[in-house]
Amino acid sequence: MSTKIIEIKNLQKKFKDNVVLKNITEHVDKGQVICVIGPSGAGKSTFLRCLNALEQPSSGQVLFEGQNLVGLNDKKLDQIRQRLGMVFQGFNLFPNMTVLKNIMIAPIKVKGTSKGATKQTAMKLLDQVGLANKADQYPDQLSGGQKQRVAIARALAMNPEVMLFDEPTSALDPEMVEEVLKVMRDLAESGMTMVVVTHEMGFAKEVADQIWFMADGYIQETAQPDEFFAHPTSPRAQEFLKKIL
Ligand code: ADP
Ligand code: MG
Repeated sequence: MSTKIIEIKNLQKKFKDNVVLKNITEHVDKGQVICVIGPSGAGKSTFLRCLNALEQPSSGQVLFEGQNLVGLNDKKLDQIRQRLGMVFQGFNLFPNMTVLKNIMIAPIKVKGTSKGATKQTAMKLLDQVGLANKADQYPDQLSGGQKQRVAIARALAMNPEVMLFDEPTSALDPEMVEEVLKVMRDLAESGMTMVVVTHEMGFAKEVADQIWFMADGYIQETAQPDEFFAHPTSPRAQEFLKKIL
């Protein structure tokens, strides 16, 4: 039995008269890994931002564990956002804090977790992303790949139910992409529910349970990765794959 953790119903998002998300109905099951792929400008980032209410839909619904996020007050939204970790292309680490402090700050400030327990969790997470020896360094002493692994550890420190990734490796030098993908692969294997916007087709093929192909504000096609890459059915996906593969 699968349980829907996120449901998206007739989601529309406009910026002025630019309709960016046209009519999206999909769901994510608990433990599923979804890779969202598609051309630039398709609406992928906007879509991801609607899932944790960083953007409010123009119409339709986004439900997290059955609760509609649309119309909730800020306090409720903050509580729900804590349960959806987000990792962006840019790392957004606090430059004036050590790696350890970067990871500890939100659990202490937002959740009121004790310093001792938070530090223990933070060290465990740093170990998980292969950076236990960097706890006392500052972000500008780290490579891009290391910063992004810290950003993932920081999101995990809030103990989220779902992790959202928006092109987490797009800003990295090529030789650093794999170390970040490895952390994400391990996370997927541990059973984390993940929605990953990515251009890393190898990762998508190997790790995703489902591909959601987006173009022109629609999810044009959803399929298992083998099926999608071998036999894309929508013309937009066929055209996209022809360009990149
Ligand atoms: P993708 O991530 O697939 O490249 P985006 O979701 O970033 O696509 O953007 C889709 C469209 O939405 C683009 O035309 C972009 O200009 C527009 N858009 C995104 N965010 C905003 C915003 N805050 N205000 C106005 N337009 C936006
Ligand atoms: Mg984007």
